[in-house]
Amino acid sequence: MPLVKRQRSSLENDSDQNKLGLCGLRNIGNTCFMNSVIQCLSHTSELSSFLRSHHGSYPSSGNKDQQILHEFAKLISEMWTANVRSVAPMELKRAFSRKHRMFSDFNQQDAQEFLRFFLDSLHLALNTGSKGGTLYIDDKVSDNKKADLMWNWYSSHENSLIRDLFVGQLKSTLKCSTCGNTSVTFDPFWDLSVPLPLSSTRCKLDTCLNLFIKEEVLDGNDMPNCSRCQARRKSTKSFTIQRFPKYLVIHLKRFSGTRFSKLSHLVEFPTSARELDMGSYGSNSNSSAQYSLYAISNHMGSTGGGHYVALCKHPISHKWHEFNDNIVSDALPESFLVSPSAYILFYERAK
Ligand SMILES: [Zn+2]
Repeated sequence: MPLVKRQRSSLENDSDQNKLGLCGLRNIGNTCFMNSVIQCLSHTSELSSFLRSHHGSYPSSGNKDQQILHEFAKLISEMWTANVRSVAPMELKRAFSRKHRMFSDFNQQDAQEFLRFFLDSLHLALNTGSKGGTLYIDDKVSDNKKADLMWNWYSSHENSLIRDLFVGQLKSTLKCSTCGNTSVTFDPFWDLSVPLPLSSTRCKLDTCLNLFIKEEVLDGNDMPNCSRCQARRKSTKSFTIQRFPKYLVIHLKRFSGTRFSKLSHLVEFPTSARELDMGSYGSNSNSSAQYSLYAISNHMGSTGGGHYVALCKHPISHKWHEFNDNIVSDALPESFLVSPSAYILFYERAK
């Protein structure tokens, strides 16, 4: 008993609390892309605390997704154990490769692709949603009502903590340029992949977000069918955010489709608490959606031979640290955060 008591009181010590989670991940062969994303997820407070409190609840004997969840919960628990400086994510890599064969070799991979597949596996392992059923929505209902009905329907099928934390809803509006008729659709999104401007190599994040939502003209072969004209018509398509996620992941599209080149723009993004307000991108005006940055996956170097690190904000000390595989830096100034290496930005919605 005295031993337990002493351990607890030493953890209550501020400096020990501030060191929890400052755990490197050893590179087990070009796995920096994975290490970088895991550090960002490890600093996603609600996900991280859920995994630590449920570690052991997920058997290693389940299906491939459940094995990934099991290994991830185990790894996160190790990473948040006092005095652990680095761990090797060997079993997690193995479990992930069993499900996602294209990650089974030891080649460099894209961190954003990894993140999508990884979250999808965690979601599938935790999903308690029901299958089947069709959704009928009356044309006469308002857009907001339609959005809610579609979200509820989606949520009844895809029901997990991962959806709760990361998924938002995007509204896309098609407008016929002949008759002015508009039609809207609502789709879930797991992250926003925003383009970088062609005109300048230095810009603000707002510029990228505006490029993402701005009206796009659909003409020629891309013309959609207009239900009022009963014909294919030149139309415009634009996006707004109908439902903001708790954790907003913004992916800067630095790699062209062919991946032969990388755009090394300096994108200036908000780094302070509540500094990013996504309200103006919302479907409903006057809405406010303030976010605080808490992690960044950085990619340095060129397309083929690059290197990934993570910059993460400690949940207790609120200090930023760089996680470069097994090496964790001392606290960094906020001025260190914005750089041409920033690739995936993780924001938490302010309560
Ligand atoms: Zn029309």
